[in-house]
Amino acid sequence: MKKLLMCFCWALSLAAGIFLQNCQQKLDFYSIPKIDAHVHIRTADSAIIQQAIQDYFRLFTIATRSASQENIDRQLHFSNILNQRFPETLFYATTFSMENWGQPDWQEKVIQRLKQDFQNGAIAVKVWKDIGMTFRDADSNFIMITHPSFAPILDFIASQKKPLVAHLGEPRNCWLPLDSMTVNNDRNYFARHPEYHMYLHPDYPSYSDQIDARDEMLARHPNLRVIGAHLGSLEWNVDELAKRLDKFPNFAVDMSARICHFQVQDREKVRNFIIKYQDRLLYGTDDGVNENDNMEKACQQLHQTWLDDWDYFSTDKEMTSSKVNGYFKGLKLDINVLRKIYYENAVAWLPGIKK
Ligand SMILES: [Zn+2]
Repeated sequence: MKKLLMCFCWALSLAAGIFLQNCQQKLDFYSIPKIDAHVHIRTADSAIIQQAIQDYFRLFTIATRSASQENIDRQLHFSNILNQRFPETLFYATTFSMENWGQPDWQEKVIQRLKQDFQNGAIAVKVWKDIGMTFRDADSNFIMITHPSFAPILDFIASQKKPLVAHLGEPRNCWLPLDSMTVNNDRNYFARHPEYHMYLHPDYPSYSDQIDARDEMLARHPNLRVIGAHLGSLEWNVDELAKRLDKFPNFAVDMSARICHFQVQDREKVRNFIIKYQDRLLYGTDDGVNENDNMEKACQQLHQTWLDDWDYFSTDKEMTSSKVNGYFKGLKLDINVLRKIYYENAVAWLPGIKK
């Protein structure tokens, strides 16, 4: 009987311990301010903002794709509405159009337009992978970010003390055969989109062409602060990313849509990397919401992603994810590191976000 009672007490204290541990973790999630530094909100519906406020998040929404000003304007329309309604919660980046590239006044017009976007409230500029992977010049050569025509625009952005969010290139998996890819989401995506699967297009610029062009841009514009989207397309190896962070003090990266690439690398190595570069990493999801989406579902999904990522960074739980085969373990980062990657770095690298 005594033994049974002891056993019962032990089970009770274990359950209480787990309960307290869960509360502590939830308390941390809800008690520290956080910023999702990479989302795409293309609706005036404020449901997702309300979700962010509830989860103690602010959002940085990014206009993307350079093919048409009309498409950019549509995105900025929503950003402006939400930024005016929620100036403490929603911040945004503009981008510029490649329409009329090659005309003598193209650069001047882009600069005038960026000036106007900054006045309207944009706090950063995005460049997307269509520079380097889609647009070609009159001789059919791919237009890389190192093309001299971009230089005055990048200098202008730097002179305005605005950061550049650069999604240049793709994950290295894009240049590998499907069965060599390291995460399931890349494998599924490129199986469905052979047109974007660079392994099948050896006539396009290589992975290292993309990385070299980005690095060259960083070297030529040391006063431009650059946030490399998606771990700066160096998601596959923290050592390679560390080399660039060492070499370019004007470079930071967001982790959006690439956290799964941390989860397939050596845990201790990734953990040490994050601790060493704790001032250069910004949390982000790359989550998007469009006008006709089911808002309730979109909010639930984003909320769940935020909780799952929080578990990965803040606990040492054994975890699974559809993107990764097998188990991986959470990183259990110190609260001071969590505060940096979730909040302080975004405020430092995107100074338009008010602390
Ligand atoms: Zn994105």
